[in-house]
Amino acid sequence: MFLPQEIIRKKRDGGVMSAEEIQFFVRGITDGSVTEGQIAALAMAVFFNDMTMDERVAFTLAMRDSGEVLDWRALNLNGPVVDKHSTGGVGDVVSLLLGPMIAACGGYVPMISGRGLGHTGGTLDKFDAIPGYCTVPDNALFRKVVQDVGVAIIGQTASLAPSDKRFYSIRDTTGTVESVAMITGSILSKKLSAGLDALVMDVKVGSGAFMPTYAKSVELAESIVGVGNGAGMHTSAILTDMNESLAPYAGNALEVRGAMDYLTGKSRPARLHEVTMALCAEMLVLGKLADTEQAARVKLQAALDSGAAAERFARMVTALGGPADLLEQPDRHLERAPIVVPVPALQAGYASNTDCRGIGLAVVSLGGGRRRPADAIDFAVGLTELVGLGEQIAVGQPLAIVHARTEAAAEQAVREVQQAYQISASAGEANPVVYRTIRP
Ligand code: URA
Repeated sequence: MFLPQEIIRKKRDGGVMSAEEIQFFVRGITDGSVTEGQIAALAMAVFFNDMTMDERVAFTLAMRDSGEVLDWRALNLNGPVVDKHSTGGVGDVVSLLLGPMIAACGGYVPMISGRGLGHTGGTLDKFDAIPGYCTVPDNALFRKVVQDVGVAIIGQTASLAPSDKRFYSIRDTTGTVESVAMITGSILSKKLSAGLDALVMDVKVGSGAFMPTYAKSVELAESIVGVGNGAGMHTSAILTDMNESLAPYAGNALEVRGAMDYLTGKSRPARLHEVTMALCAEMLVLGKLADTEQAARVKLQAALDSGAAAERFARMVTALGGPADLLEQPDRHLERAPIVVPVPALQAGYASNTDCRGIGLAVVSLGGGRRRPADAIDFAVGLTELVGLGEQIAVGQPLAIVHARTEAAAEQAVREVQQAYQISASAGEANPVVYRTIRP
């Protein structure tokens, strides 16, 4: 017989909770028998006193088991069930590319994605920009699309890891989000409930990253790799750059267009390509679909060049209710913003730094993200042709193109993008695109 207050006292005094105590507490989060005050108190105790690796694994598994856990074995799939998760970024369209690329290489990707958070975009919002595409299919359709196409990208359902939903909302309002132990449990409980064989985690680094410093990003990556593997899922993490938008565009429908241009070979921006290939190659190796990173890259490039990855994307869109000719006729289906204006550079020099968070927030203020959870999104708005770090620029030359709903919103976005760029006499040193891979 456990008492929530005794478990809280133990953690408050720096003790180590047993797996049974953690399971009891998490059950109480799910069924409501533990109060909001008790949950907040435990969160604060963990925030200050942390959790050991064993506690983190037990906490993550208990949160996973608070709801449905998907099981793919009955489908007899002839490849591994794999996925990627990112800590969130700006112009990060990787999921739209990676899912179809992995499917074209023999993997199965049941990707349960989230909405935009703060200054970062959300994969779910990008798919909502496609008319007819159903991001909340029933379980039978989700399974069928994964089985038939190899990839289905959908939204979070209430049945997976429900304890995290309650726990996260209490952390969010009690100043206890920024704990590596609790972030690890929150992310991995949701990913483990999707029944994955392997996961690659993209941990962002830089001015647009969720974690505030490089050291903190490393700490989170190591925690996720330790707990993921400890919970029986092959897990690696790659630290990638988020000091500038990953793609030269940001905004929901604009990113869908960009993803399709990438898949069809019309345009493959170098930084986006490098991050996508690094994450995909790690997934193929973890899923045993390639023996080496080099072999994986050859396979992935072939899936792009043959059009196989583009074809998987088109099939996924159609299977989930989107238009059958989206790739051929994007203008017929994806809305364009009425006001399109350049952002003139106010001085000459090199783009030496960007406040990447500021770029993301410019998209939010255009209406491409939410200020409050209930806000509707304007899918058409955003930024394109963002100047990359290190590029030379003349006075008046565009730093980006703004796509806005109104003249006033466009003017504000122009000012915000101008403020986000630092223009200097020299280019400065280039940031790595991929910093480090962390494996067990
Ligand atoms: N994202 C999550 O899903 N959970 C966290 O705790 C932080 C970011």
